[in-house]
Amino acid sequence: MEEILQDAANRASQYLARLDRRSVSPTTDAIDGLEFFKKPLQDTSIDPLDVLAELDEHGSGATLASAGGRYFGFVIGGVLPAALGANILAAAWDQNAMLEISSPIASTLEEVCRQWLLSIFSLPSDAGVGFVSGATMANFAGLAAARHALLANKGWNVEANGLFGAPPISVIVGEEVHVSVLKAMSLLGLGRERIFRVPVDAQGRMLPDALPDIKGPTIVCIQAGNVNTGAFDPAKEICAQVKEAHAWVHVDGAFGMWAAASPALSTLTEGISSADSWATDVHKWLNVPYDSGLVFVRNHQHLQAAMSSSAAYLIEGSKREPSQYVPELSRRARGIEIWAALRSLGRVGLFNLIDRTCNYASRIAEGLREAGFEVLNDVVLNQVLVTFGSPTSTRRVISLIQSDGTCWCGETEWQGNVAMRISVSSWATSEYDIEKSLETIIRIASQESIIV
Ligand SMILES: *Cc1c(COP(=O)(O)O)cnc(C)c1O
Repeated sequence: MEEILQDAANRASQYLARLDRRSVSPTTDAIDGLEFFKKPLQDTSIDPLDVLAELDEHGSGATLASAGGRYFGFVIGGVLPAALGANILAAAWDQNAMLEISSPIASTLEEVCRQWLLSIFSLPSDAGVGFVSGATMANFAGLAAARHALLANKGWNVEANGLFGAPPISVIVGEEVHVSVLKAMSLLGLGRERIFRVPVDAQGRMLPDALPDIKGPTIVCIQAGNVNTGAFDPAKEICAQVKEAHAWVHVDGAFGMWAAASPALSTLTEGISSADSWATDVHKWLNVPYDSGLVFVRNHQHLQAAMSSSAAYLIEGSKREPSQYVPELSRRARGIEIWAALRSLGRVGLFNLIDRTCNYASRIAEGLREAGFEVLNDVVLNQVLVTFGSPTSTRRVISLIQSDGTCWCGETEWQGNVAMRISVSSWATSEYDIEKSLETIIRIASQESIIV
């Protein structure tokens, strides 16, 4: 065991040490090298050291360098040193985080993190928290709690009796709703097409005046941090309007909610604390390993009612029972890495991470504008959308940037325009990374504009 762990640690640290010098995209050779893995399972056992060597020699090159400082795709953070270290230790612990008796450490750290996180996000201190696999499942769990509460209020037990014959629930979302919320709707039997979509402004924010009249059990989903622009729905106005009608407000704050950790940015999240449920990611901006997300529900009983299961052999302890708040029973102890990340950063380190990455996004936007390119969004957070002329030339520039390998940015569509999206979400990004990437983007885009 010791030999394999030392070898894994050596390989991992060499991988990370080389990140800065390699192409952010894997090379074509590295992708072609994946052919190595495509063979039938052999009959005989192989030494674990040889297995690891195969993985490293044929696999490491075929990764995206998303753990490095110049990966700006999707909203993907790197991994903080403390979180990576904790992940390795936790893998050795091999804890099942379903119950307190199956892992006292997992249950305790979840409870500690629950309190820390509620304080970071200024949410009610008795809210329920579930440690899920990402914002998709956080949206699912939060909306399941909403479904439970709204129907229980009508005298219907949805967990026992299902949705056939249940009173209908109306769902209101913004035109810019994230697909994961729609997926959650479809999984919950609420339907992804029987929803009301509220028109949005040029930044993707819901127009509160365009909210429909609310009658009967209703869920209103708002967004804290649009996946393209980073914009926030006007939570304060929307909550004030719909709360009178007793609608349930759910916030998809996959990355935007983390703005609450920064004194400079927390005004963006104003009003979200009066919602009923919230979903966020930890593997995005807190830079812990995948998969990690959080659901918060104001009244923890609604989350427990929607998520709990019971069986005679699942003897519950007196403390927090992690599986009462999530869809899964057995799962890995994600709270360990969250604890390590927050413990290492502290409050100041956390807000520095959020502020610094947002400042870098502003710097990129400023540099692109100065070079004559059109930035499509108000850069309020860590997201920048830029076009390089026509859709064809924008796509061509994106593909050239990706194959150049200095940095990596993805393509998106924003209100009818094809755009390149730059998302700065990693602790590992430095000022040098920003300047080098900006220089590369401007060089490639300027050459391409001359050619077209
Ligand atoms: C990323 C994202 C999601 C989905 O999160 P996963 O962790 O990929 O499941 C949902 N909503 C928004 C706004 C996001 O940015």
